[in-house]
Amino acid sequence: MSASGCRVRFAPSPTGYLHVGGARTALFNWLLARRSGGRFVLRIEDTDRSRHVSDSLEKILADMRWLGLEWDEGPEADGGADDAAGEGDFGPYCQSERLAIYQEHVQRLIDSGHAYYALETPEELAAMREQARAAKTDYKYRRPDPLPTAEQAQAARDAGRAVVVRLKMGDTAITVMDDILGEVTLAADQLEDFVIQKGDGWPTYHLACVVDDALMKITHVLRGQEHLMNTPKHIAIQRALGFDTPHYAHLPIIFNMSGSKMSKRDKEKALKRGEVPPEIDVHDFRVSGYLPEALLNFISLLGWSTGDDTEQITLDETTERFSVEGVGKGSAKFDRDKLLSFNTDWAAKVSEDRLLECFVDYLQVNGSPLAELPEATLRRMLELCKGFRTFPDVITKIGFAFVDDSAIEYQEKAVRKVLEKNDGAGYAALRNVVICLESLEPWTASAIEAELTKFCEANDLKLGGVAQPLRVALSGGTVSPAIFDTLELVGRERTINRIKQTMMQGSEQQ
Ligand code: GLU
Repeated sequence: MSASGCRVRFAPSPTGYLHVGGARTALFNWLLARRSGGRFVLRIEDTDRSRHVSDSLEKILADMRWLGLEWDEGPEADGGADDAAGEGDFGPYCQSERLAIYQEHVQRLIDSGHAYYALETPEELAAMREQARAAKTDYKYRRPDPLPTAEQAQAARDAGRAVVVRLKMGDTAITVMDDILGEVTLAADQLEDFVIQKGDGWPTYHLACVVDDALMKITHVLRGQEHLMNTPKHIAIQRALGFDTPHYAHLPIIFNMSGSKMSKRDKEKALKRGEVPPEIDVHDFRVSGYLPEALLNFISLLGWSTGDDTEQITLDETTERFSVEGVGKGSAKFDRDKLLSFNTDWAAKVSEDRLLECFVDYLQVNGSPLAELPEATLRRMLELCKGFRTFPDVITKIGFAFVDDSAIEYQEKAVRKVLEKNDGAGYAALRNVVICLESLEPWTASAIEAELTKFCEANDLKLGGVAQPLRVALSGGTVSPAIFDTLELVGRERTINRIKQTMMQGSEQQ
């Protein structure tokens, strides 16, 4: 595929959040544009009003921005601004704002004899389909002869009937020259006159997509393989309108590890089974505490490979190495374990500032009050939990430090094993250590370490003999970062309160 200065587009329909497969399409297009010094256009295909989901546009834009896939041009947001790359203060193009353009092209096709009005009602079409089924033949729309005239179309509209416009398909096969799949031919008998303008006057996806690809001077169309069978139709429209055909490349379908196709419906299915729904949309991964770096790196490998053993590479490196030739024909597998391990590695690799930025974003999208904590505290949390897989691990490990003392839930097993065992040895350790801690100055991890070491020596205890009871007192369970750091982060007042609260609960039960 020649790719110098290519113009590409990502054209999502606003049907909800950005699906991870859509994100892969967006990424590959973005990479191609960046690699070739070309332009990446974002176009919202919102002409199917029945599938429109409100807020969807904002959601898709937010997901694109979170991934860092900025688009290069589009209508200006508030006028004046130039279409400077990367600023994102313009666009995207929305097809719903370009209705007149599509209508003009449909008219051109009617006037040139490439398209015609079709008057069948949905019921009539259903009956024709049924007839074919009964006769055990494949249904194919039969072009009326003679074709309805413009006057007949108008009369039908006046009588309240929906009139569509169909494109005449020729009687020769159409071959798609796909840059990934090679030549793909659709036989003539599989081509039927299809609708390019619906009864409500809106264009179908096929028409709007082809007109926009041409007017936006798109040179390369990279999209999911589910669109492969649409491409012959698109080529037919291009030929009828005298447009050039861009390069096409259809990306491999993404499958779950179980072998089923990865789809938005996987979430509903899991919910029905009473299971936690898997992450499918980009937003799901954001809410689940993944880093854009990890997700991008991971999805770049869904169909494409670096060509050697290296897998974890930056977006810049991916841009340098990406090519459509490197995309395979076979299906891609969405390996969640691999993604988790990518995320673990990326979280350990990005700069502290970047990690903090992503952590704050994670807390904010989850509506967590922890987002308001001082920056230094958030940094400390991340530092103490180094090695975590996703951000929820951080909360599991240290989130207890920031809740009200009364919100601590004491795990029965931990209480039994750590506090009650050996005649309440854990409670005894807490009773004694609280006295030392109350007067300790300053309240720093190193002073706490020195004090607890001294305490253990004086009481002939191993560090665990006091650290574990403290963990249970502070968190309700037995997991926390290093105990000295944990105490410092929880603060003196809360530490003392929680120890006393634990002892009180213990004496109530005894
Ligand atoms: N709007 C189509 C979709 O969301 C895009 C198809 C295309 O890229 O041509 O699947």
